[in-house]
Amino acid sequence: MLDRSDLSARAILDRLVAFPTVSRDSNLDLIDWVEGYLADHGVTARRVYDATGTKAALYANVGPEVEGGLVLSGHTDVVPVDGQDWSTDPWTVTEKDGKLFGRGCVDMKGFDALALAMVPHALALDLKRPLQIALSYDEEVGCVGAPPMIDDMVAHLPRAAAAVIGEPTGLRAVTGHNASVMVDIHVKGYEVHSSKLPEGVSAVHEAGRILQWVNDRNDLIRSETPDAVSALFDPPHATVHVGQIHGGTAHNITAKDCRLAVGVRAPAGDDPDRHAAPLEAFLAELDAAMKARHPNAGITWSRSFGVPGLKPETDGAAEALVRRLTGDNGTHVVTYGTEAGQFQERGYSAVVCGPGDIAQAHQPDEWISVAQFEAGEALLRRMVATLAE
Ligand SMILES: [Zn+2]
Repeated sequence: MLDRSDLSARAILDRLVAFPTVSRDSNLDLIDWVEGYLADHGVTARRVYDATGTKAALYANVGPEVEGGLVLSGHTDVVPVDGQDWSTDPWTVTEKDGKLFGRGCVDMKGFDALALAMVPHALALDLKRPLQIALSYDEEVGCVGAPPMIDDMVAHLPRAAAAVIGEPTGLRAVTGHNASVMVDIHVKGYEVHSSKLPEGVSAVHEAGRILQWVNDRNDLIRSETPDAVSALFDPPHATVHVGQIHGGTAHNITAKDCRLAVGVRAPAGDDPDRHAAPLEAFLAELDAAMKARHPNAGITWSRSFGVPGLKPETDGAAEALVRRLTGDNGTHVVTYGTEAGQFQERGYSAVVCGPGDIAQAHQPDEWISVAQFEAGEALLRRMVATLAE
């Protein structure tokens, strides 16, 4: 069997990018490879499968099985390349002008490769506390893969003191991010010829009331004074956004169906449920009013997913570790969600810190600079070295 124990971080990145682990597809080929790589180092990994058995998260403990270790966590899935104009093969890492091009190079197989490259480094040290590697799936479709993985880690591993989630932050310590809740709404009308409008119930017209509620809510939110934590964010308040609306079939038929996709985002000082719950109460009221007009009319809705926010910690171990090693004492928060809030929700001190710029994520010709990749490797080496102190 091929021995993978002396692969460089860059060689590991080449291998990871070559697996086209778009979120809709299986990631098991990548997981098999990573498991083999860890086994070549004598490290046993544990898998946590999704309900279909076609995807798995994987985690491993490197070093002594004691508390106080360090988790390096990343996701293995990537966004699709469909419809994007790439000038290189997205599934092959191409180096050009000091950049590494390829899907996932920055979001976030670059960090995954660096974390895996730390395994031989950790094994060569006399670790007092363990390095824990955690690789999730389905981050890009609502961060649904990490929670069962983290629950399994809590059940089977000694608790780590800090978790670093390596989404691209330019290696700064990001200590806060938004929480979000998504609500999918289906407005069901009653179809008649539009010349008989008073006898029908138009799903499109009723959806208009929902749009009005959303606009009013945003006005109300903007009139509030942000709390101290939310004030760190831009914008410093929650937002309620209708991303999609589809309804109606013709100009002369009262619409039978209208569907809306609503997203509520809130900074760490607020709670998306503070806005999603009154939205749902409004939908219940509207549903009753529509049914009074025609029994076939009404509204159904469901929350498709929600991601908890990352709240800045007071004297958090994860933040302190990154600050000590980078000398970065600025306050950084971001408005996108990550799995860091899910680690924090389960009792870990968590920080987001990884190489590269989020601006290159999800783009055609996605890239990470060689300089950031190398700086990331140097930072992780120093992080792992603290486990031997
Ligand atoms: Zn990501």
